[in-house]
Amino acid sequence: MFECTADVQPKPTDEIAEFKEELVRLRRDFHQHPELAFEEVRTSSIVEGYLREIGLEPKTGIAKTGIIADIVGGLAGPTILVRADMDALPITEQTGLPFSSSTPGKMHACGHDGHTAILLVTAKILMQRKDQIKGTIRLLFQPAEEGPGGAAPMIAEGVLDGVDAAIGLHLWLHLPTGHLNFCAGPMLAATDEFDVTVHGIGTHAASPQMGVDPITTACQIVSSAQTLISRGVDPKQPFVLSVTKFQAGTAYNIIPPSAKFGGTLRTYDETVRAEFKTAFQKLCEGVAAAHGGSAEVEWREGYPVLVNDPKIAMICEEACRDFFHMIPAEERPDARSLGGEDMAFYLQEIPGCFLFLGAYNEDLEACYNHHHPKFTIDEDSLPMGVELFLRCLDRLGSELGSK
Ligand SMILES: [Zn+2]
Ligand SMILES: [Zn+2]
Repeated sequence: MFECTADVQPKPTDEIAEFKEELVRLRRDFHQHPELAFEEVRTSSIVEGYLREIGLEPKTGIAKTGIIADIVGGLAGPTILVRADMDALPITEQTGLPFSSSTPGKMHACGHDGHTAILLVTAKILMQRKDQIKGTIRLLFQPAEEGPGGAAPMIAEGVLDGVDAAIGLHLWLHLPTGHLNFCAGPMLAATDEFDVTVHGIGTHAASPQMGVDPITTACQIVSSAQTLISRGVDPKQPFVLSVTKFQAGTAYNIIPPSAKFGGTLRTYDETVRAEFKTAFQKLCEGVAAAHGGSAEVEWREGYPVLVNDPKIAMICEEACRDFFHMIPAEERPDARSLGGEDMAFYLQEIPGCFLFLGAYNEDLEACYNHHHPKFTIDEDSLPMGVELFLRCLDRLGSELGSK
């Protein structure tokens, strides 16, 4: 799948390699004890204990289980926020690994166990070189990234006060270990969910003329929506509308009175996002009315578009390019995905950069996609995550200068 061999992998410096065992131990412990959104009580208390042990005074209980702690450097400089997410997913693990989830129906199937371990060890190393740090580094451990979102409530509680820039990483199974990819500008999509109810008039299956069939009406809306996209949205725009639920009817001889369908909209552009929602509403109501029925559309706003700041992205690139395998510049837009990330909320408020760090390794069966019950990571990516954070933080401290 990838042109990458183990012998070309970057090697973390000795200082960081020394922590591999600790990173693995922390990650496996979090992995074995996954906690869902806003229930990250055990994880959060381990994070708090670890931060206290290395001499920090964490502020806990932010948005229920979130934590921040400031490392105040010995030199003048900016305040940089570095974020990790802590939550797991409602999936039953099927990896068969000895440190598999101890709770059926809960699993770290996205790599957030690794993110938390990486940020803890990064903090430990930073504390050892505190005097040389330019500015302040704010560590942020966040709940509920997988939904409904922990970033927005943490921001509401003031975690961005005084922050100049933010970075975060995602261990990424679409890249081999040692590879890094990210791009300036939009990189992850805005996510919205919708539910449509089509009201018709129920009748006997043999006499459809006596009612209004909501199923054929809803089917027309579903297929017309795809035409609405292909004819109404700039083809250069990354854009997806997927209908993922469709429910109607109870029997073979009854045309039901209503049908429901729902799905998700993924967009990169706020104007396109708003315009499409209006057009979709008109389509649903218009098609339903043409058949003698009616339609109601309900939207739930998800995460905004994740936009990397060009200047911060450039500084991160300079910090990383002599260590990681960087995806060539012309292929960098491949970093773009129509997935969503609530890191986007921080980057809406302050400039920053979110980076994808390779964790794919077929030999270790770390080759299943995120959210798959057999998902796992190549743990060699953990020290690389520390390397990534340290390099970016150091460079940002110097380049962004004093406040
Ligand atoms: Zn995920
Ligand atoms: Zn994730």
